[in-house]
Amino acid sequence: MKHNFGAGPCILPAIVLDQAADAVRDFNGIGLSILEISHRTPEFEAVINETQGLVRELLNVPADYSILFLQGGASTQFSMLAMNFLHQGKKAAYLDTGFFSLKAIKEALFFGEVDIVASSKDKNYYYVPVGYQIPATAAYFHYCSNNTIEGTEMFSHPASSVPVICDMSSDIFSRPIQVADFDLIYAGAQKNMGPAGMTLVVVKNNLLEKITAEVASMSDYRIFRDNNSMFNTPPVFSIYVAMLNLRWLKEKGGVTQQEVENIAKSDLLYTEIDRNTLFYGLADPKDRSRMNVTFKMHDPGLEAEFLDFASQKGIVGIKGYPSAGGFRVSLYNALPISSVEVLVKCMQDFEAKNLN
Ligand code: PLP
Repeated sequence: MKHNFGAGPCILPAIVLDQAADAVRDFNGIGLSILEISHRTPEFEAVINETQGLVRELLNVPADYSILFLQGGASTQFSMLAMNFLHQGKKAAYLDTGFFSLKAIKEALFFGEVDIVASSKDKNYYYVPVGYQIPATAAYFHYCSNNTIEGTEMFSHPASSVPVICDMSSDIFSRPIQVADFDLIYAGAQKNMGPAGMTLVVVKNNLLEKITAEVASMSDYRIFRDNNSMFNTPPVFSIYVAMLNLRWLKEKGGVTQQEVENIAKSDLLYTEIDRNTLFYGLADPKDRSRMNVTFKMHDPGLEAEFLDFASQKGIVGIKGYPSAGGFRVSLYNALPISSVEVLVKCMQDFEAKNLN
C-alpha cells in the first residue's frame, strides 16, 4: 500500500476511484463511457448542475455568486482575472507570499500596474505578512490563502474596501470559509476537488457587472456564466469526478468535519517535527499550513537516506519542491490519518536508527 503525500495530484478516496472506473466503462448504464458522452446531453447537464449544487452547499455560497468550471488551471486565472478586472489606469494590490503569488503578479503585469502591499520574501516566504494597507483606489486585492510550496496558510484576511480575489487552489474544501468575504475565489481542481483539467471559480455577480475592459471570449467570465460553463467543450471527466468527490465530502460531514480531520493530521505531524531531533519545520509556527507541511533535516546529508527509508515503507511524494529542498508533505482531504501515523513512525524509526 502506498501513502501518497504528493502536492500536485488529487488524492481520491477509493470509493470515488471505483465509481469513476465504472463510469469510464459504462456511464449510468447508458452503454457509453463518461469519456464518450457529449456535454450537450441531459445526462451531462445533470452532472454539471449537481456539481455546482454541491459546491454551493458545501461552501455555503450565497445566491448572488456564480459557480463556474473553467480550464487552463489556476495559472490561467492569474492572467484572466487581470484581463477582466485590471482596468486602464488602475493599479491592483497584491500580497506577495511566495511562488504562486509571484506568478500571479507576473501575469497581472501584462495588463496593468501592480502594487505589492507586503512581501515575506525577506525570510524565504516562511511567514505571512500582517499590518499592511490596501489602497482604496486599487482595482482589487489579490492573495493566495495557502502557499503550497512554502507551507504557509492564511486563516484570516485583512479588511479591504476593494474587491478581494483569492487563489485557494490548495486549501479549498479543507475548512469552512465565508464566501461573502470574497468577490472572486479560484482554485485548480487537482488538490481537494478532482483530477486536473477543471478550475473552479466562485464569483460575485456584481463584480462581473463592473467589467469595462474588452475581453476575448475564452477569457470572459461573463460568457462562461451565461453559458453554464459550456461556452466550449468543458472537461467532462474532471467535472464528473469532482462531483463524485464532493458527494463523498458531503456524506462524511462536509468541510466542518474535514477541518477537524485536517487539524488532527497536521497537529500529529507538526508535533513530531518539533519533537524529533533530526528535523525542523520551515514555516513560522503561527502561519503553518494544514495542507502542505514543509521541513528539513539538521544534517542535509541524511535527507536522501531518509527519502529512501520512507519509500521502503510505501511513503511517496514527500520530496520538497526543487527550489525549496527538504521535504514537503501534503495532507489533502482524502489522505487518511493512518498514513500520517505511518510517516510519524517512520521519522521516529529513522531517528532511533541514527542515534544508535
Ligand atoms: N496556485 C496555487 C496555490 C497552486 O498550488 C498551484 C499549483 O500547484 C497553482 C496556483 C497553479 O495551478 P495549475 O497547475 O492548476 O495552473
